[in-house]
Amino acid sequence: MQAPEGTKDYLPDEAGYWEQFKRIAADIFGRCGYVTIDTPLFEQTELFVRGIGEATDVVAKEMFQAISGENLKRLVAGEAIKSKSHLSLRPEGTAGVVRAVVQHDLVPQGAPPVKLMYAGPMFRAERPQKGRLRQFNQIGVECLGADAPSVDAEAIIMLMRFFEALGIPAAVTRLLMNSMGCDDCRPAYREQVRAYILGHASELCEECTRRAQTNPLRAFDCKNPACVAVMAEAPLISDHLCDACKGHHEQVESYLDAAGVPFVRAPRLVRGLDYYTRTVFEVQVTEGMGSQNAIGGGGRYDKLAEELGGRPTPGLGFALGFERCVLALQAAGFSFPAAQSLDLFLACVDASVRKEAFHLLQACRDSGLVADMDHQGRSLKSQFKLADKLDAPMVLILGPEEMDKGLVKLRHMGTHAEAAIALDGLYAVLGGLEYENSETLIESLLAKIFG
Ligand code: AMP
Repeated sequence: MQAPEGTKDYLPDEAGYWEQFKRIAADIFGRCGYVTIDTPLFEQTELFVRGIGEATDVVAKEMFQAISGENLKRLVAGEAIKSKSHLSLRPEGTAGVVRAVVQHDLVPQGAPPVKLMYAGPMFRAERPQKGRLRQFNQIGVECLGADAPSVDAEAIIMLMRFFEALGIPAAVTRLLMNSMGCDDCRPAYREQVRAYILGHASELCEECTRRAQTNPLRAFDCKNPACVAVMAEAPLISDHLCDACKGHHEQVESYLDAAGVPFVRAPRLVRGLDYYTRTVFEVQVTEGMGSQNAIGGGGRYDKLAEELGGRPTPGLGFALGFERCVLALQAAGFSFPAAQSLDLFLACVDASVRKEAFHLLQACRDSGLVADMDHQGRSLKSQFKLADKLDAPMVLILGPEEMDKGLVKLRHMGTHAEAAIALDGLYAVLGGLEYENSETLIESLLAKIFG
């Protein structure tokens, strides 16, 4: 059996790095006041239809439906099921978070903005390719309740700081910025794009001409070379923003300038989801990524809470993709740190000392050391090989002759120095170790024993 198409197993080294990745994000985003929220992996389909937009690719083509066995039987039998039973695996995180904010009234009238972050899997039934999976991990943030341009700038700066902290070289990242306008200026602009597309229908692909009816701005995203050439001459939103949107965008840009965060104006950046208003942005990696080169992106969505039945609550968020960040890091020479490394390995000269070794092992672990022993009856030589493989800086050797004298040997794997130490004394040292982290623990243990 194989993992389903477009999914993958996160083996221990990568799974361990995902934990570390989340810690780095929680540290950087936490400093900006973001706290964690967890919402369900599936929601009512209606949420995504209303939130993300019926005509978007994500909703129209890419959602995995989730259905109970009972309801599936009903559907197969041609019976109706309740609309609330139409469920979909979440294709993105914003709709669920905003639903939760509205449901739990997390931004009461007059309250300060709420800053939320999430991490976890998203599901899209896309055609799998390098950097494009059907189940992938995102970390995202959402700030609801404030419409100031400083919120947009703060989130973008935070995102760029995160990529820097991960080790993705700044020289290969590119921040694209645009404004999608608002309900005042976008409708007229959208009509202009629609008219432009219909005027060039014979030069465009079928999908783009169809989009003219439902979602004309998406034609900017089409990869077909003929469409790209036609859309290069299409009217630009930057020439049609109202004064308020123009002012907002200029302020976001000036905050970024002041923070020394470089960006590129991208007047054709529309992004795939319907809910964006004003600021949209995307971070791309310019080397080693192939066509799936966006590692993160987001924007402002000032109408979404209302769309989902809440009071008017401006919002802004972004999401970044774990797997694509890993590809970007790997292109720059990164490999996963080993998931497991030991502080201490306990080796047994023969089976007669195993019971004592097992007892000592628990005392080592209780003192805070990452410790293990052989469980397969290996020879002493092969126990040492295992200790080496697990990167253990120390090996405790228990042999029947030493044990008779109440002694064990400690071997420093780096220098090969060995010391015979009293078992009683060792238990006392382990019991009295000051635990800060395992690195200082090993040092203090080595210092105590080797001086
Ligand atoms: P989006 O929600 O489409 O704005 O995506 C935000 C980020 O999630 C992207 O910049 C990617 O890094 C990542 N991402 C989106 N779709 C996929 C996918 N199918 N496979 C892997 N990563 C993805």
